[in-house]
Amino acid sequence: MTGRPASHALYERALAVLPAGVSSPVRAFRSVGGEPVFYASAAGSRFVDADGTSYLDYVGSWGPLILGHAHPEVVNAVCRTAAKGLSYGAPCAEEVELAELVVGTVPHLEMVRFVSSGTEAVMSAVRLARGVTGRDGVVKFSGCYHGHADHLLVSAGSGLATFGTPSSAGVPASFAGHTAVLPLDDSDAFHALMRDRGNEIAAVLIEPIPANSGLLVQRREFLELLRDECTRCGALLIFDEVISGFRVGPAGAAGRFGITPDLATYGKVIGGGMPVGAYGGSRALMEQLSPLGPVYQAGTLSGNPVAMAAGAATLRRLLADDGAAYRRLDALAAQLQQGLQTVLGDAGTGWSVVRVGSILWLSLQPGEPPRRYEDIDSGAADRYAALHAALLARGIYLAPSAYEVMFVSLAHSEADIDETIAAFRDALTEVPR
Ligand code: PMP
Repeated sequence: MTGRPASHALYERALAVLPAGVSSPVRAFRSVGGEPVFYASAAGSRFVDADGTSYLDYVGSWGPLILGHAHPEVVNAVCRTAAKGLSYGAPCAEEVELAELVVGTVPHLEMVRFVSSGTEAVMSAVRLARGVTGRDGVVKFSGCYHGHADHLLVSAGSGLATFGTPSSAGVPASFAGHTAVLPLDDSDAFHALMRDRGNEIAAVLIEPIPANSGLLVQRREFLELLRDECTRCGALLIFDEVISGFRVGPAGAAGRFGITPDLATYGKVIGGGMPVGAYGGSRALMEQLSPLGPVYQAGTLSGNPVAMAAGAATLRRLLADDGAAYRRLDALAAQLQQGLQTVLGDAGTGWSVVRVGSILWLSLQPGEPPRRYEDIDSGAADRYAALHAALLARGIYLAPSAYEVMFVSLAHSEADIDETIAAFRDALTEVPR
């Protein structure tokens, strides 16, 4: 029991009918201990759990809710559109509007195709890259997550120039064998692989702002090297912007770094809380998709009008007023970073708060924040578990995993941030060094 009897009762029921009581693994709280908190409702920066307790939320549905929970413009767009029909399975104005917004905002996109999740977006982009290059190999980087397509659930093989092995049961070794996994921020390893096998590589896939194993901020030169080597070897560079797209700026990480990928994938913010993913690139590449070209990809609920309307309402609010939304997000997130960093400094921890725009990560280890998955101290997860529990008891909800980031939304206020910093100061006394 956790002092949350209604959540506990729901969890007991859930355990009987859902594996680990959840629909997606990290929600089960296994890496921080304790039991999941069941949400009952949410608005703005807060949610209320099944027991009626209110929490300040820094998960924001894992990134989509950049405007906060239940933003009135998004909810109105959803209700208006839903009243006209939930799904058509046919073209509709809403998908054209969202596509125009996306293509009109991101300079390197001439066309997009909508899907229903980030997983589908990346899986489809990789298929397109394979289709146009006629090659099978894919390069990814350890610590980056790209959804759960078979050939992307892969760990590094025994040598850097070898291809990978499955990281999940159920993935055929032959699928994983098409994917090479390299460390982030390692130019030599990347050079060596492209020198030896560059002509087998269809795509180099990266989260340009890796945010699934902490926040592993990459040097611009490393991303530039990927760009140059892909061009030289005839491989496509795919930026997985499922988290960073429309989160770190209107043109995502590509815009921030000034580096142009061949294909980019989106999810999360682009759907404003509804199930939407997208992938896009040049007209020449996108016209290789069926029915114009030989690369097949389809979806019953793709371009769903209600989901498209939620995405369009979200992007319209974000893109209004000449960047004001991003400036506000940046200011709020900077206030949070500085406040938390001061607390960590006052306590003499040597730990740091990493930030890119409105994405933050608590790096609970001394020294320079890591740029590679391999450099994350495994002891940090225990420290995070204690911190997570102490913050939860004080009404602050962080992701139930040390490897997940925090998201600040436009619904957070300066007062919310101050409240968080004060709770953090208090909670830190319960965290072992
Ligand atoms: N790519 C990245 C970078 C992600 O962060 C995620 C999900 N966290 C995915 C792909 C998969 O998206 P989804 O969970 O919507 O399938």
